[in-house]
Amino acid sequence: MNSYIERVISDAQQKNSNQPEFLQALKEVLSSLEPIIDKDDKYEKNSILERMTEPERIIMFRVPWVDDNGKIQVNRGYRIQFSSLIGPYKGGLRFHPSVNLSVMKFLGFEQIFKNALTGLPIGGAKGGSDFNPKGKSDAEVMRFCQSFMTELYRHIGQDVDVPAGDIGVGGREIGYLFGQYKRIRNAYEGGVLTGKAICYGGSLARTEATGYGLLFYMREMLKQHNSSMEGKTVTISGSGNVAIYAAQKAFSMGAKVVAMSDSNGCIYDENGIDLDCIKEIKEVKRGRIKEYLDCHPNAKYFEKTGENSPIWEIKTDIALPCATQNELQLEDAKKLVANGVIAVGEGANMPTTLEATEYFLANKVLFAPAKAANAGGVATSAIEMTQNSIRYYYTFDEVEKKLDRIMTNIFHECKVAADEAGVSGNYVVGANIAAFKKLADAMIAQGLV
Ligand code: NDP
Repeated sequence: MNSYIERVISDAQQKNSNQPEFLQALKEVLSSLEPIIDKDDKYEKNSILERMTEPERIIMFRVPWVDDNGKIQVNRGYRIQFSSLIGPYKGGLRFHPSVNLSVMKFLGFEQIFKNALTGLPIGGAKGGSDFNPKGKSDAEVMRFCQSFMTELYRHIGQDVDVPAGDIGVGGREIGYLFGQYKRIRNAYEGGVLTGKAICYGGSLARTEATGYGLLFYMREMLKQHNSSMEGKTVTISGSGNVAIYAAQKAFSMGAKVVAMSDSNGCIYDENGIDLDCIKEIKEVKRGRIKEYLDCHPNAKYFEKTGENSPIWEIKTDIALPCATQNELQLEDAKKLVANGVIAVGEGANMPTTLEATEYFLANKVLFAPAKAANAGGVATSAIEMTQNSIRYYYTFDEVEKKLDRIMTNIFHECKVAADEAGVSGNYVVGANIAAFKKLADAMIAQGLV
């Protein structure tokens, strides 16, 4: 490996030895930059890698709140303002017990590259809390969100830092967070959060954007290799925001989604998943995917017993991991390849481990990496910010067309960068290099700040 890259990785390992997810993301990106770093010593001269892998600012704070029994609870809040190179910090908030500094930093780091790929003026950030919204009442979630924003408000703003949703943060949470921000600031600052409901400043098609965007990217990638979604069998992990709308678009492109999952297990319906039933369970009842069998008794349910999800054992043409990080591991990849998978598209952030990604690439499976393939959500968030700034709203169709154009461009940028690096068809390397070039150029242009 290039000695500069090796040194930066080794220094990062020493400084962040207790942050495995962050180191995993950093190694994945840096090791793929060799073709460009080798060619030009300006990156080393300007210490670009050292600067790009160190967040501009890390904010950690206490979030005290009172539960329905009157008991005081304390959680930890985070905001990683990773890079403001090309726009205000931008990235989601995750509320999940697994949230820690390493997870926040990995997500923030990935976000810088993803946002650069969109071609829109947005920097990179991530935030959240180890608070678990599951099983909490609406009143508890509201009190938590209000306490969280009472600290976060001083660090954000529509030209400073614009959070959005992620795992555990949907429309309900964004509403409570926005309400509290507005109350504290005594101003309607529409662009301070994205993922808002349509009735108070949200964008049409934002809810659908990440899942739809993933399918636009898949369509372009398959087209490039003389294939399409038409008639393909698809399995999708997760049954949250990304998974549901990826499934919807896959169906509309003529594919058949046969399996979806949650953290307890997966359902398999050979006739094609009934998405209305999934939406009812997940978006209305906030229930478990197993309940699918109540309306479709002929479908099958496989409980997750160990670390690996049973969904990857199901034979499929296309696999779309849309749940969480490291959910698709080497042994899952081996099963998918043995069962004839032709393409994998990452809807979630870093759902595939490094070893599994390498296995897919070595076995000529088309692989759409998260930072490119799931950029549709943040791109549409930027379109939401635009609408808030110009105080005018686009129709659903207008937003979807813009999203389609952005995802198509992203795919082609990844393709060109991969071709130029001499690794045609490797969109992991293509995405990293295409984003890196933009960020490095901006960093050099702005001087040492
Ligand atoms: P949601 O909270 O809506 O859904 C998450 C889904 O993943 C749920 O089905 C959940 O199941 C499942 N899940 C969560 N943790 C685990 C786990 N440890 N093991 C197995 N399944 C799990 O989140 P989103 O759909 O918004 O996000 C999914 C992924 O997509 C995340 O990686 C997120 O960062 C990424 N992403 C999201 C964007 C967006 O616009 N929403 C944009 C870009 C990326 P359960 O209900 O059992 O917890």
